[in-house]
Amino acid sequence: MPIPHVELHAHLNGCVRTSTLLELLPRGEEVAGDQNHIGRRPARTLSDCFLFFSRVHSCVKTFEHIRRIALEAIQDFAASGAVHVELRTTPKNLNDTCNKRAYVRAVLEGMQEGMQAASQRLWCRLVLSVNRADTLDEALDTVQIADEFRRSTRGFVVGVELSGNPLIAGAWERLKPAFDEARQRDLRVTLHCAEVDEQVTSGEAIDMVRWRPDRLGHCVRTDTAFEAQLLMSQIPVEICLSSNMTTEAAEKLPNGDVASDHIFRLLNDAQSPVCICTDDPSLFDVTGPSEMQLAQRSFSLDPKHDFARLLRNAAAAAFFAPDDDDDAAAMRAELERRL
Ligand code: 5GP
Repeated sequence: MPIPHVELHAHLNGCVRTSTLLELLPRGEEVAGDQNHIGRRPARTLSDCFLFFSRVHSCVKTFEHIRRIALEAIQDFAASGAVHVELRTTPKNLNDTCNKRAYVRAVLEGMQEGMQAASQRLWCRLVLSVNRADTLDEALDTVQIADEFRRSTRGFVVGVELSGNPLIAGAWERLKPAFDEARQRDLRVTLHCAEVDEQVTSGEAIDMVRWRPDRLGHCVRTDTAFEAQLLMSQIPVEICLSSNMTTEAAEKLPNGDVASDHIFRLLNDAQSPVCICTDDPSLFDVTGPSEMQLAQRSFSLDPKHDFARLLRNAAAAAFFAPDDDDDAAAMRAELERRL
């Protein structure tokens, strides 16, 4: 039986298949190269990753493109054994006919088609991303759109998150009122946290924990005070090991494993609710099961008991609307069946 997977941290445009991206490249550019930003590569720096995203964003121009990317993302997760997939993406005005709301509709159409075509039972939810480069008005607009779709999709759009270039200073402080608003409106919230040292030294990371989002992403750069606060909070953390190694937020050993001083070790040893996610499966060339195996090798996990616990952690932390208990229970029962 393949390892099942519960994906809680995957950026839509980090899931775009390389073959699709090559098709979407403007004519001529596929020969002119630029493969270094789109093809699979063993090493990318943080800024390479953001070049990859600007490359993707420059190719993804229509409703149909985004619908296809969402569909293929769900197909790929389904093929690698996913039980539940939360995708996240920033709504974009793509062109005159595809504004931010149409963009979200395109993602939903693609996700729902992928879900219905899956050969095993599959649950999906969508989280809308606020980018650290956004203005507060843009962030509030994303919260408004998430709230509208939460109602019209009866909880399929389930929350909002904060991501984008972690080197943009002061973003959390500036955008926090949008997340206060999201919380007021019963949207679930997850925040990228402590991806670079500056987020820890500036006090941003600890402030995020104190704000008590429903989940946190990464938390990979730490100091003693942050670690203590994080452990005490028991907030579920979405761990993305390959992403952390590639962007050099975590040490990669010569054999390809993650150095065992990664924050995962501390949280896992303390039985904190950590889970393993992919972040950007195409960019980092990973799947849910391959990330679980990397965790197994790096931290000497037991493939039966430890995997089951990590997957249950993820299932327990998955975002469902407050009145969506039946779906949440059905997803968790399906996971148990596949464990
Ligand atoms: P999109 O929102 O366009 O579907 O997904 C791509 C975006 O996700 C990127 O432009 C970036 O803002 C965000 N993203 C993807 N991976 C990471 C990551 O590892 N860290 C951070 N902070 N943001 C990321």
